[in-house]
Amino acid sequence: MMSERVHSKDVKAAVMRKLEERGVSLVDIAEIVLAMQSPYYPNLQIEQCIESVQKVLEKREMQHAILVGIELDVMAEKGMLSEPLQSLVTQDEGLFGCDETLALGSVLGYGSIAVTTFGHLDKHKVGIIKRLDTKVGNGVHTFLDDLIASVAASASSRIAHRLRDEEERGNP
Ligand code: MG
Repeated sequence: MMSERVHSKDVKAAVMRKLEERGVSLVDIAEIVLAMQSPYYPNLQIEQCIESVQKVLEKREMQHAILVGIELDVMAEKGMLSEPLQSLVTQDEGLFGCDETLALGSVLGYGSIAVTTFGHLDKHKVGIIKRLDTKVGNGVHTFLDDLIASVAASASSRIAHRLRDEEERGNP
C-alpha cells in the first residue's frame, strides 16, 4: 500500500530539530570546517562555513543518514535495541564500523577532498566531534560523531572547490 510521500521540508526540519536535541549547532560544525580549510584559505570566514554546512544539510542522502544514525543512538540510550546490537552501539565498539560506513557513504558525492577530510576527522576528532566522542556519562553518540565528521568534511570540500572556482574567475 502506498502511503503519503514525505515532503523534503519536513525531513530537513526533522534533521535540524534532531541535531539541536543532540546538542549540535550549525556553528559547532562550521568551526570544524573553518579549522580544516583556513590553512589553505586564511581569509575564510565562519559565515562562509555556516553557509556551506547549510547547503550540505539540504542533501537528501545526508539528511537520511543523519536521521538513521541519531535514531539508533537515541534507541541505544533508551535501551531499546536488541542484543547484541544494544551493547555494540552503547559501547561504541571500535570494530563495529557501521557508524563510519553510514557516514562515509554520504561524503562520497563531494569527491576526494571530502573523503580524505572525513578520514582525518575520524582519526583526530576535532571540536564538537571530540566532545561527543568522550564516553563519560554523556549519552550515546556512536553514530552522531561520524555523521558530524561527514557533514563537516563535505562542507570543507564544497568550500575548497568553490574558492578555487572564484580564484580562477578572478585570474582567467
Ligand atoms: Mg562513531
